[in-house]
Amino acid sequence: MARIVMKFGGTSMAGTERIRRVANIVRRQQAAGHEVAVVVSAMAGETDRLVGFCREANPLYDPAEYDVVVASGEQVTSGLLALTLQAMGCKARSWLGWQLPVHTKEAHAKARITSIEVEALLASMQSGEVAVIPGFQGLSADGRVTTLGRGGSDTSAVAIAAAIGADRCDIYTDVDGVYTTDPRIVARARKLEYVTYEEMLELASVGAKVLQTRSVGLAMKEGVRVQVLSSFVDDDAPSADELPGTMIVSDVEMEGLKMESQQVTGIAHDKNDARIVLTRVPDRPGAVSGIFSPLAEAAINVDMIIQNVGRDKGETDVTFTVPQADLARAQALLEDRRGEIGFNRIITDTKVAKISVVGVGMRSHAGIAATMFRSLAERGINVQAISTSEIKISVLIDEDETELAVRVLHTAYGLDVEGVAAE
Ligand code: ASP
Ligand code: MG
Repeated sequence: MARIVMKFGGTSMAGTERIRRVANIVRRQQAAGHEVAVVVSAMAGETDRLVGFCREANPLYDPAEYDVVVASGEQVTSGLLALTLQAMGCKARSWLGWQLPVHTKEAHAKARITSIEVEALLASMQSGEVAVIPGFQGLSADGRVTTLGRGGSDTSAVAIAAAIGADRCDIYTDVDGVYTTDPRIVARARKLEYVTYEEMLELASVGAKVLQTRSVGLAMKEGVRVQVLSSFVDDDAPSADELPGTMIVSDVEMEGLKMESQQVTGIAHDKNDARIVLTRVPDRPGAVSGIFSPLAEAAINVDMIIQNVGRDKGETDVTFTVPQADLARAQALLEDRRGEIGFNRIITDTKVAKISVVGVGMRSHAGIAATMFRSLAERGINVQAISTSEIKISVLIDEDETELAVRVLHTAYGLDVEGVAAE
């Protein structure tokens, strides 16, 4: 017997039929003798719809009331899943965020979980009742409903798993695991049986949209065993206990698995960045600080940065990327400070993509960056900016070359599965 948290995303919860499928999966886990808590998302598209209503009602909406509205999507699905389980003869009840409660702090619409009260929840689970918990929602210190930021149900699930000391947190979605790259781009992409927290963190933050990045960070910090797997399976499919999905594990556990050490684990792409070039910035101490401090104060995340060596007249160009959603704000901020910073022109480009190769193998293999640059060069793909971490190399390229770059790199690092035709 184990204690399991099962989380189902919006596509898994979209409508009566799908909720019935989910209830079946839950029932099977319970029948296997496990104590089960289920965390659910709103039906696919529902949160967007609710956000739209808030905007229509009041473009300058009060985040506290926004939370009241958008948290309702999960209230509906948690109740419906409990009802469906009951219809199958399964004991089940819902526990809303304020009922547990899930205590949160900081701002509405992007609250953070501080603690979760689990006594009553555990008692109910131990009595054989399935606990159904709406993801995404919590309670503020002053007693109001909060939400955790878009995609926050993953974080709810991991936080519940940590709080109840679950043996595993299974995140059910519409894909059967984490792939070496986007299978819609590369038919030869391979499902990973295991991936480390750090790799998953990097992959999640650079565009592999399987899990909310925050949830991976939390799982790593709390040591929660997370499995990503599909809810779209037949009744006779292997049970979650046989680990049919992708397990996210610690470095130590990964080493223990003694898998052939790969240089690169996965390749991600992200088209949501924009590139900014400031030309003819004076090449003197404080110049870059004058650019990046105001952006940081405005909570605009700068990712890749290139500053050329000064050319004639002691001037240099500075290139960097920001999220596309923040481009207009960044541009306005910089324009305001044109005098202080002393640049000549701002050039922006949203037709860029960031391609990242990720793998803990980078710590022990040399030449991974060289392979990346050579492979891209051979296909005539120009690299506009580069950034690296200990286990990741990212390059910025023309957005039109995204698919080509991902395919070329997937092959170059030996990730293609055999027996599937190349496209
Ligand atoms: N329903 C929320 C959203 O769409 C939370 C989630 O599904 O994770 O962002
Ligand atoms: Mg999600």
